Amino acid sequence: MQASECIQGTHIQELVDGLDRIYFDIETEQAQWKQASPFHCPDGCGTCCVDFEPDVLESEALYLAVWMLHHQKSRAEAFVQGTFQSPRPDPEKGCLFFDPADPYHCTVYEGRCLICRLFGYTGDRGKDGRPRWKPCKYLPIHSPGCSDTRRPQYREAELIDRFGALPPVMADSTSRALSLSPDSANLRRPLREALVIAIRKIQLLHRFLGAPPEPDTPAPNPVSPMPHAS
Ligand code: SF4
Ligand code: SF4
Repeated sequence: MQASECIQGTHIQELVDGLDRIYFDIETEQAQWKQASPFHCPDGCGTCCVDFEPDVLESEALYLAVWMLHHQKSRAEAFVQGTFQSPRPDPEKGCLFFDPADPYHCTVYEGRCLICRLFGYTGDRGKDGRPRWKPCKYLPIHSPGCSDTRRPQYREAELIDRFGALPPVMADSTSRALSLSPDSANLRRPLREALVIAIRKIQLLHRFLGAPPEPDTPAPNPVSPMPHAS
């Protein structure tokens, strides 16, 4: 992910880079599962975000903060100033970045949190420690290639037998994310709180280390030569 130079070489950069690798792996594994399985979220669904706000680790909040400061700077600034306008009419009920009117719904999609990347296309582990997967209750099960009329909990062997693939396991990605900052592994905050802290932290670094010029900032005018005294 592209980030401001002011975090280069800092612990924040380590966390953001570490999470970037985890997000990349999730995407890769999910792409394989999506290709193999007949289950796909319906276009424009987003029901999992309606009454939900993620509790996030510091690393997830920093990742989103870095992404917003690069791609949605005025929204990020409004967020810490308390002037952010959520696109949803009921901001107390769920994630502030959910836009019910937008067909894609998530307005910070590329910077979204870990759990947001896991909805729908990840499984868990049963008591035997083996991967298993159950379709989300909003996922259509009458898809081509799937004759089930039930909504079963598929066990590992059945997943391999039917689809020849396994979805990624949620706990595996979560453990990797926790291992990025073991000292604060148990510290999670609602996204709206964690994000304010994360954006402020990066803004403070900007102030200490000096922000690099914005990509579209015009170069300053050359200094005019002093007029010669006559
Ligand atoms: S960040 Fe995006 S995907 Fe995650 S809960 Fe909010 S709207 Fe949904
Ligand atoms: S995971 Fe379920 S609720 Fe979320 S978009 Fe997919 S089908 Fe809809």
